[in-house]
Amino acid sequence: MLFRTLPKDGLRVLVEQMIGEVEVIGPTRVADRADGRPIHHFLPVASFDDIDLGYETTEYSAKTYFLPFVESLSTFSFDAEGWRQEIRYELEPRAIVGLHACDVNGLLKLDKVLARDHYPSPYYIARRRNTFVVGIDHEPCDGGFCRSVHADTVTRGCDLFLTDLGDRYFVAIGSDRGYSAMQRVGSSEVSERDSDDYLEVRRHLAAIEQPAIPVHHLPNILDLEFSSELWARWGGRCLSCGTCAMVCPTCYCYGVTERVSMDFARGRKLKRLYSCNLVDFAEVAGGHNFRPDRETRLKYRYYHQHRGFVEEHDEPKCVGCNRCGRACLSGINPVEVIRDLQTEERA
Ligand code: SF4
Ligand code: SF4
Repeated sequence: MLFRTLPKDGLRVLVEQMIGEVEVIGPTRVADRADGRPIHHFLPVASFDDIDLGYETTEYSAKTYFLPFVESLSTFSFDAEGWRQEIRYELEPRAIVGLHACDVNGLLKLDKVLARDHYPSPYYIARRRNTFVVGIDHEPCDGGFCRSVHADTVTRGCDLFLTDLGDRYFVAIGSDRGYSAMQRVGSSEVSERDSDDYLEVRRHLAAIEQPAIPVHHLPNILDLEFSSELWARWGGRCLSCGTCAMVCPTCYCYGVTERVSMDFARGRKLKRLYSCNLVDFAEVAGGHNFRPDRETRLKYRYYHQHRGFVEEHDEPKCVGCNRCGRACLSGINPVEVIRDLQTEERA
C-alpha cells in the first residue's frame, strides 16, 4: 500500500470535484434521537458540507448501493414469434465517501461471495467496480465489537482510507484510481512526523474499550450448543421482522420473483433482498417449511454468520457493527447472544 498525507482542504477539493462528475454518497445527518444523538444515513450529497465525517454510525449500511433492496435482473417480452430476454446493467459511476473500517470489511466479505465464489453476480461486480470508495478511521461506535472480529482496520477493499491527524489526513492508497485522485489534489509524501502521528492515532483507537467477544472457538461452540434451550429463549423474542438482515452490511440472501403483465406481452424478473428470519424463508414448493419456528430461523442466522461462513472463508461474516442489535425492537443483540452461548458452553 502507498501512503500520502492530504490537507483537510484537499479532501474538500477532491469531493467537490467528484460531485461535479459522479453521484457522491456520504454519511448525512437526517434527524436526532430523543436523547439528542444524531441519526445518520448514507445518502447522495450535493456538497462536501452535507457530509458529516464525524458520524458515529449509520442506521443501515451502504450495502444498498451495491445490493439494492429490489433490483430488476431482466425484462422479457412475448409475441407470436417467441420471447426475448433483455439484461441491462443499469448503473452510473459513483463515489462513497466516509465508510468506516467495518463497512469496508463488509464489502470485502460480499466480494468473496458475489464477486469471486462459485456464482459471481455481474450486477454486484458492475456496481463494485464503478464505485470509488473512500474509507475513514473512527472511534469505536456504541456497542460495536469490530475489534473482536478483526474488522476495525483495513488494508484493502477501498480506493483511499483516511486517518484524521488533526490538521491533515494520513491516506492509505488502495488502487490506481485512488493514486490518480491523490495526484489531482496535491497530496504530499509521508514524513517521519506523519508516520509517528499516524501510529499515535492508531494506538489511541486501539486503547478505546469496546465489548470483547472471543469468536475463534465460536464455530465449535455453535455445534456443541445446536440443541441448547438458549435458542428458544432468544428466538421466542424474535418478531421475524427481518430488520436485522436489512441493516446488516454483509447479509445478502435474496429471493427472485417474476412479474408478467396482464396481457402476457411483457415480464420482469426481480431480485429482492430477503432475511433468514422471515417466516417463509425456508418454505419450498408444496408448502413445506424447513424452519417453521422463530428459534430455528434465528439460530440459522447466527450459524451462517459465525459458522457456515467461517467454514467456507476462514472468517466470520459478521463485522461487529452492531447495527442489528441497535435496530432490533426485541432487544436481540449479537454481543449478548454470543456471550450467552459461551456461558452456556462453560455451564
Ligand atoms: S430485528 Fe430482531 S425481531 Fe426482527 S428478525 Fe431480527 S432478531 Fe428478530
Ligand atoms: S450481524 Fe449484526 S453486528 Fe454483525 S455485521 Fe451484521 S449487523 Fe453488524
